[in-house]
Amino acid sequence: MSALLESYAGGSWFRASDGGRPLLDAATGEEVARISSTGLDLSAMVDHARNVGGPAVRALTFHERAGLLKAVAKHLAADKDELYALSARTGATLRDSQVDIDGGFGTVFSYAGKGTRELPNDTIVLDGATEQLGRSGSFVGQHIYTSRPGVAVQINAFNFPVWGMLEKLAPAFLAGLPTIVKPASQTAYLTERVVRRIIESGLLPEGSLQLLCGSPEGLLDQLGAQDSVAFTGSAGTGAVLRQHPSVLYGGVQLGIEADSLNCSILGPDVTVEDPEFDLFVEGVVTEMTVKAGQKCTAIRRTIVPAVIADEVVRAISARLATITVGNPGNPDVRMGALASLGQRDEVRKAVQSLRGSAEIVFGDPDRVDVVDADAEAGAFMSPILLRASAGATEPHDVEAFGPVSTVLTYGSLDEAVGLAARGEGSLVGSVVTHDPEVARSVTLGLAPWHGRILVLDREDAGESTGHGSPLPTLVHGGPGRAGGGEELGGIRGVLHHMQRSAIQASPDMLTAITRQWIKGSLQHVDEVHPFRKSLAELRVGDTIRSGSRTVTLADIEHFAEFTGDTFYAHTDAAAAAANPLFGGIVAHGYLVVSLAAGLFVEPSPGPVLANFGVDNLRFLTPVKAEDTIAVTLTVKQITPRNSADYGEVRWDAVVTNGAGEPVATYDVLTLVAKTLPGA
Ligand code: NAP
Repeated sequence: MSALLESYAGGSWFRASDGGRPLLDAATGEEVARISSTGLDLSAMVDHARNVGGPAVRALTFHERAGLLKAVAKHLAADKDELYALSARTGATLRDSQVDIDGGFGTVFSYAGKGTRELPNDTIVLDGATEQLGRSGSFVGQHIYTSRPGVAVQINAFNFPVWGMLEKLAPAFLAGLPTIVKPASQTAYLTERVVRRIIESGLLPEGSLQLLCGSPEGLLDQLGAQDSVAFTGSAGTGAVLRQHPSVLYGGVQLGIEADSLNCSILGPDVTVEDPEFDLFVEGVVTEMTVKAGQKCTAIRRTIVPAVIADEVVRAISARLATITVGNPGNPDVRMGALASLGQRDEVRKAVQSLRGSAEIVFGDPDRVDVVDADAEAGAFMSPILLRASAGATEPHDVEAFGPVSTVLTYGSLDEAVGLAARGEGSLVGSVVTHDPEVARSVTLGLAPWHGRILVLDREDAGESTGHGSPLPTLVHGGPGRAGGGEELGGIRGVLHHMQRSAIQASPDMLTAITRQWIKGSLQHVDEVHPFRKSLAELRVGDTIRSGSRTVTLADIEHFAEFTGDTFYAHTDAAAAAANPLFGGIVAHGYLVVSLAAGLFVEPSPGPVLANFGVDNLRFLTPVKAEDTIAVTLTVKQITPRNSADYGEVRWDAVVTNGAGEPVATYDVLTLVAKTLPGA
């Protein structure tokens, strides 16, 4: 008997009290492992996450969490051989395994990078600008995101045992949540190995990652209002979870990624000779055969102009005929096995349903030639292409979660969009066209029904990541039938796990709460110029109020001549006078900003290393010749970098004129050394 998979719970590995049930190799039918959660204390797991893991993760800043994620990804990527070997047992070819394993590691790297670049080195995130709520500015509002003191439970489908776990773990961990992973049993042995390697590395704080191998029965009963469940799987199981009392009455946040009848639309502009025709055909064939079509993003509905449908069917069929099916470990094999014989039965049943309104034009669901494998022992299946009759309903309802796609035809673009919408909400749709009008019309028609849309043509094909690849930086999830979940999407995927609250207070209180300087709160001016202070010495609210400078006509003429910016408003008195906004010669906005720098700068070498940009620059009032300007610069946010001996300082800059009116506002971004040079 093979090994019984263990769960990682409460800080140790747990072995079920019974023998468990066998998990079979998708290609050979041999037993790979056994699985059971009998005797596992799910309540203690949730407590451990809440009381040990959660506090430990939340004690770290976003940058520290990102650093740990990067270390985990590096650790996992250092030795992938055993993972690839196990992945082959799920039926995955080398290419399929890359999508799952390397794709998973890449997602963690991406989140680590985004966490460092786009989140503060702090534990809260400010959302949007401060809202002035009273007349004088003493009462303001600010939205902030905080970490929930709960647990993120993930319940995953069998098809991506590595990526599926990591794409959920990374944003949850960054958000400060401990995770309990419940992999689909069929391929849990691969997830278990990855979790084991993460735990062995000791990189993540104890309790931040636990693993539940086997039945999760009773798990949702333990969850409450600060907890979330991210489910990926069938619409049927999703519906069961939606009706759980903890979700209905207990406030558990449930995200669902379920069945999705994704479509790809061939534009009416495309002829057989166009490169877009081949791109379309290649896209459909790839999505049908990668992971043997067991991808939530695969193209289930191939929507083409009726006038070209015969050619499309012929071309796809010709390409499918070249796909070798068999032993996923054999490099000559293009398509491996489905995850299990049971899964193959499900797909065959679904094909049978599709045949209610479509005919098979390629493949036989009950027969396939296999290379280097036993066709009966493994869950092998031929790719199946169907062609729907007019008015077909099944292709819009039935998800065959395997190498299956159905061709549907349209007459007008509206009809094409209407067919796509009949999927009732999908993860991804694509349109292959070289016509910008078609691209706009189809994209706008598809967008309300889709989480992601790929517009493919000869221009982007070379770099396109394809229809079926969710990307860590882009939203993954879709409306309606696809579940309404929204995983990934860069920092959106992190904030999704956090609570957004509107905080109403005085500016000083908000500055104290957020540790970021809020307009209207105290500004500290002392005799030391803030540019002479190291990062360790600088304080939020440190301010310099500059002396003033009169902007002369000669300054404006010099700047115009020097930079070449001789726009009439700066050089032609008559034309400038006729301008309804200026009524005469005005200084260049960039001259004002440059003069402001001259007013606030402290020129000698010191801790300020560089100015790396400005944000939110606005020119509010024109500056005329002989106007006098001054600038106030205040430390708004200090972000030490964990991996460098400097950090970022964001300064609030307000340039005012002689009347005290703001003429320009912006954030100055600098890099400042953590300690004084030579200190
Ligand atoms: P499934 O049968 O719904 O199982 C999914 C997960 O739910 C598994 O971990 C399963 O555990 C668990 N589960 C089953 N019953 C449960 C219950 N009553 N309470 C809590 N957890 C329960 O789906 P599947 O067959 O594994 O996956 C195929 C489906 O997933 C397809 O329909 C596909 O469209 C969908 N999918 C969607 C996406 C997406 O992002 N939208 C991605 C991949 C797959 P056990 O394995 O232990 O039963």
